[in-house]
Amino acid sequence: MTHPQPDQQSDQQSHDGGDGPFAQLLAANRTYASTFDLGGLAAPAAKRFCLVTCMDSRIEPLVALGLVPGDAKILRNAGGRVTADVLRSLVLATTYLGVTAVAIMHHTDCAMTHLDGPGIQSALSADQRAATEGWDFLTMADADAALADDVAAAGGCAGLVAGTAVAGWRYDVGTGRIAQVVAPLVVGA
Ligand SMILES: [Zn+2]
Repeated sequence: MTHPQPDQQSDQQSHDGGDGPFAQLLAANRTYASTFDLGGLAAPAAKRFCLVTCMDSRIEPLVALGLVPGDAKILRNAGGRVTADVLRSLVLATTYLGVTAVAIMHHTDCAMTHLDGPGIQSALSADQRAATEGWDFLTMADADAALADDVAAAGGCAGLVAGTAVAGWRYDVGTGRIAQVVAPLVVGA
């Protein structure tokens, strides 16, 4: 994480009147919006593609795949796991938003492959443990098996539009390269 230097922070506060972790972001957005030209984009994914990937801040989903805003739906969570909520979004993306191809993209050096349930529990405060009792944090003891499971979960979900292709990829955070680890499954095939 990077934090603004104290003098920069106070300078920023004096300009936008905000404070805390959000002020610089909102100031940057004002700059972004001043030259915004994406207002005409359609909601469906122009490339008919949806990427499910990890929240890891080292991954640039659009740039890494030669995509631009408007091309693809991007779903992110810890690990890039196919959860019930990801399936919910994939049903909607394939039904309403033109998505016909889905890649589940895990990555090297993922924290979810280094952690396990007890390890996460030990890092939580008593209040956190109480609030998350019974949760499965979906850590991955076997990265390849987890990716295969996620592809099977999405590719085997008849709630997605029949014919949707679902592949399993792994992104290498050291090289930027993507390897296909699980060949595409086709929903309903
Ligand atoms: Zn990760």
